Amino acid sequence: MGKIDEYIPTVGQPTIDDLRLLAERLKGKVIQNINSTSVGGGVAEILHRMVPLLKEIGVDARWDLIKGGEQFFAVTKKFHNALHGTSVEITQKDFDIFLDTSRSNIEEINVYGDVVFIHDPQPLALIKNKAENKWVWRCHIDVSEPDQKTWGFLRGFIDSYDAAIFSAPAFSQKLPIRQFLISPSIDPLSDKNKELSQETIDSVLKKYDIPKDKPIITQISRFDRLKDPLGVIETYKQVKRYIDCRLVLAGGGASDDPESTEVLGEVKEAAKDDLDIHILLLAQNDIEINALQRASAVILQKSIREGFGLTVAEALWKAKPVVASNVGGISLQIAHKYSGLLCHSVEGASFAVKQLLSSPDYARRLGENGREHIKNNFLITRHLKEYMLLFLSLYHPEDIVYL
Ligand code: UDP
Repeated sequence: MGKIDEYIPTVGQPTIDDLRLLAERLKGKVIQNINSTSVGGGVAEILHRMVPLLKEIGVDARWDLIKGGEQFFAVTKKFHNALHGTSVEITQKDFDIFLDTSRSNIEEINVYGDVVFIHDPQPLALIKNKAENKWVWRCHIDVSEPDQKTWGFLRGFIDSYDAAIFSAPAFSQKLPIRQFLISPSIDPLSDKNKELSQETIDSVLKKYDIPKDKPIITQISRFDRLKDPLGVIETYKQVKRYIDCRLVLAGGGASDDPESTEVLGEVKEAAKDDLDIHILLLAQNDIEINALQRASAVILQKSIREGFGLTVAEALWKAKPVVASNVGGISLQIAHKYSGLLCHSVEGASFAVKQLLSSPDYARRLGENGREHIKNNFLITRHLKEYMLLFLSLYHPEDIVYL
């Protein structure tokens, strides 16, 4: 894992100096992150890098998990879908299950942070433990058009926080508390994003029996309907009528996502009989994901809803041409026809993929612009700085802090 000074060649000495200065101001404060899973999905991805880097520069950052059973995570997944605006029926029983598990977590979790930093809706109810400390809710979801019943229920907790953070301007909501706009980030030095030798890339392709005979289109995502894996297969099929290619659909589950097994079954069914579709169930293996992204001619992210879409940033950082749906935080990362291609349908996605496969110079230019955009806006050093400014601002509520 990269040490803070190893980021200097990428982001410059002044950026790292700023981080150390801010960390100095936070001495003595404990920042307690709490979420619901340590593996799978963007939140865990970020915390795995954020917490050690904060510690290294002198901030006492820690990370705890809430506990929940199958029923609880089935309900929070429903909340997740409902907040993303998909139509889901949420019943009183669902709310009761959420409250029951929350009650046990409220009793069992040791809340010791000066700043308690709650990620996503699952641990929201812990706010009942609020004392003199500061509480921040970090929403990683696209809540631009949430189901009102679910949002109304969760507002009962959110309103008691000191502040909320959203990833994109369109996600902010009318709230009686301070709101901050902070986009997520990727770590350029992590195993997921660091440079790899061709030998390593080839060995991963070999391990998964993926020949290099045809261009590879890849989507890396949890098997979740909102990532539209069936739309990805349909897109590939439309492309393949004109350009011979392979599809890699790779992902795992997350321990707080109970739907993935069912979705994976649907994906396998849709892909059956096509030997050029490679469905990979990856254990948490960042080097392999990195290698698959690097081996691809085009990266797809055909999400129906997306909080931010770290996979898009990861692909762009590798200077890959990306075709992605124009949803949620993806539009912060891709300027259409400049740093990638945005789409709204299977037809649009397949048209864009065909265009990129048949115009390698254009594809390369989009990828290079994308890498520059990620470098300037979505690396972890920017994210660390904004979080530290936010923590400091909690102690100066009257001052306006420009992030
Ligand atoms: N990811 C992973 N293994 C998988 C699927 C995804 O490590 O099998 C990673 C992916 O590389 C990215 C994160 O999980 O870093 C997913 O974040 P994103 O914002 O794209 O979507 P989320 O899963 O949070 O909805």
